[in-house]
Amino acid sequence: MMGAVQQRRALVLFSGGQDSATCLAWALSRYAEVETIGFDYGQRHRVELDCRQQLRAGMAVLPWQGALGQDHLLQVDVLRQLGASAMTDEVAISMQQDGLPNTFVPGRNLLFFTLAAALAYRRGLTVLVGGMSETDYSGYPDCRDNTLKALQVALSLGVERPLVVETPLMWRSKAETWQLTHALGGDALVELLRRDSHSCYLGVRDRLHDWGYGCGQCPACELRAQGWREWVDTPG
Ligand code: ZN
Repeated sequence: MMGAVQQRRALVLFSGGQDSATCLAWALSRYAEVETIGFDYGQRHRVELDCRQQLRAGMAVLPWQGALGQDHLLQVDVLRQLGASAMTDEVAISMQQDGLPNTFVPGRNLLFFTLAAALAYRRGLTVLVGGMSETDYSGYPDCRDNTLKALQVALSLGVERPLVVETPLMWRSKAETWQLTHALGGDALVELLRRDSHSCYLGVRDRLHDWGYGCGQCPACELRAQGWREWVDTPG
């Protein structure tokens, strides 16, 4: 039992990855209406953006408390102009001197939440939902709980409207995220996310593993495969 439906309306930052897809299901289980926002910032691979539509179509036919509303896809080419990272250019994924992987795009989540808040203001939505997690191995500073709590305050003040930032995966491991998926939508939702959510940094979609599509070698695939196995091996 995930709690009664709330009359508030939510906007989910929805990339097409496993985490944001779980967040969409979580939001549909608790808010009256849920819209989605995605960002096209010249990702190396566009498969995540394609996955968004398949996930939305699959989710729309499952029984939820709330209704799935509009999707919004924003062009944010500006991130490319700010400089290279392994997320947008053909460079190898590696660790930087500051201890962060070069997949880190500085300011990305700050920008995304600011744009989401602007859209939420226009659309009359009061909850922003994101799949950020501190348990994520990569340790991006703009995914941390304190960053997002500070952002909630700044955005609410900045538009003079109470906006709530919800991050249901903040303290969940990847295995616990699958567990949440199952609790929210059973085997049907697990299967939808397994097949149609995308994690692989290299954009590989031609190999289906037990944990989903991907190259099986990159850090994102390794994390996803490990989380899946932990979840499958969990008793009960
Ligand atoms: Zn991969």
